[in-house]
Amino acid sequence: MGLASLACLALVGAAPKLPPVSERYPVVYEEPTSPSMAAVAARMKEKRALETTAEMLAFLKLPRKLTLKAASCGEANAWYDAETDVVTFCYEMADDFIRGASAEERFGLTQEQAAAGPFLFIMFHETAHAIFAILDVPVLGREEDAADQLATLVAIRLGGNFAERMLRGAALMYQRDSAARKIGEDDFADMHGLDRQRYYNVLCMAWGADPKQFAWAQEVGHLPKDRAEGCAEEFAQVQKAVRRLITGKNVDQAAAVRVKEKAAKSKFAR
Ligand SMILES: [Zn+2]
Repeated sequence: MGLASLACLALVGAAPKLPPVSERYPVVYEEPTSPSMAAVAARMKEKRALETTAEMLAFLKLPRKLTLKAASCGEANAWYDAETDVVTFCYEMADDFIRGASAEERFGLTQEQAAAGPFLFIMFHETAHAIFAILDVPVLGREEDAADQLATLVAIRLGGNFAERMLRGAALMYQRDSAARKIGEDDFADMHGLDRQRYYNVLCMAWGADPKQFAWAQEVGHLPKDRAEGCAEEFAQVQKAVRRLITGKNVDQAAAVRVKEKAAKSKFAR
């Protein structure tokens, strides 16, 4: 059998090869507009923050390109724009994460992990908004909660230290946000849940998925017993919705295995 026919055989039944990640998730680092953001912009670029996020999304087959962009915004924020299919992550937010990452011993994260964890979680959260829009996924309940749930589920699926550190980072971020703000009427009216609620929601999903691996949710995060009792069901509900509405033809299972291996070998997980 010649090489050509071997190659043909290999292709029988195989799914069409996905274009490279760099084409499916192009990354853009805009020049920072203020000198105060120059250092953080350089750091994000040097650490390949957006490229790493794109690699973690390689399993996801979206019918359109999703651009991941870092930019100056004048505020600490991140969002997905459905008109342009761009996820923007603001240098100001990265700056906040880096500044807030010092001496966070309670969650057992190094300074670097305490900045990278929230970054990855927010990028997954914004990508969740993109998934809902691009795949026209029906959402019951608040989309902001659904985006947190999907981000948490994807993190859990990546497994191991990678999952654990990203979710510890997300919990840390919500805890810090809630400590830094005095709640006002606007917060109750907001489309987002309260930071303190989002904190417990992340802990509950993690603990519900695997109370052994994520024992820290109770031990460190103080997830109350009353809430914890229903967390396995909460997790199962999210998992069922995601399986029925999103997985299937939108997830490349072989790529998912590779992404998991990559996550396990990443500096963040080691
Ligand atoms: Zn959101």
